[in-house]
Amino acid sequence: MNEMITENIRIIQQRIDKACKTHNRNPQDVKLLLATKTVPAERIEIALRTGQTLIAENKVQELKDKFEYLNTIPHVNHFIGHLQTNKIKDILKYNVSCIHSIDRFDLAEKLHQRLLKENKTMEVLIQVNTSFEDSKYGVSPTEVLDLVRQIATLNTLQIKGLMTIGLLSAEAKKIRQCFQLLKHIQQEIIALHIPQVSMEELSMGMGGDLEIAIAEGATIVRVGTAIFGQRPTADSYYWNENL
Ligand SMILES: *Cc1c(COP(=O)(O)O)cnc(C)c1O
Repeated sequence: MNEMITENIRIIQQRIDKACKTHNRNPQDVKLLLATKTVPAERIEIALRTGQTLIAENKVQELKDKFEYLNTIPHVNHFIGHLQTNKIKDILKYNVSCIHSIDRFDLAEKLHQRLLKENKTMEVLIQVNTSFEDSKYGVSPTEVLDLVRQIATLNTLQIKGLMTIGLLSAEAKKIRQCFQLLKHIQQEIIALHIPQVSMEELSMGMGGDLEIAIAEGATIVRVGTAIFGQRPTADSYYWNENL
């Protein structure tokens, strides 16, 4: 079991390196993020002991449950799940350094208010629904620019880039279109030169499509199953708006 995690990480890292080579990317510019939803802290520890540093949860409850165990092991916590406004207070307790899933102004505004109160700041990515599926979270591509402009006025939030989930299990061509769209939006935002807005991060690509994502400019690829194995819970539990 433990050897499997170590071996899987090696394989994923190899795929990342190979894709970088093929597409003239510097491997230093592509971070591997371990998506750890449903993975027990003991197994996450194994991954961290191999030298991995970046992990992310989807739910504040899981972040909380594993926090104490993992706290003494050096790592960086991001958050990649749908964030409810009533969880904002909680998420600030667990050393999350970047939230990838900011997709609406009221959420950003409430997060800002809480950060002000606690005299903190937070890095955020704007999640974009590049697959145009109703079931997916994320701001629609037509509304991203306005949302970025609005959020840029909240001085506790540092916009660092964009995130998308993209189409799952579809043809490579359609997946690629999602990533190209995110890249295109990134370029549009860069051209606007909005003060305090950085577009250095593109969080896109997962176990099945990280090569395509790297080809299209990903700086963070998020991998779970391909490292930790199948999850007991259906993905809809994490991704469906109605749950
Ligand atoms: C779970 C998850 C991933 C990783 O998915 P796998 O299929 O486990 O590789 C990536 N991004 C987000 C937002 C996730 O919730």
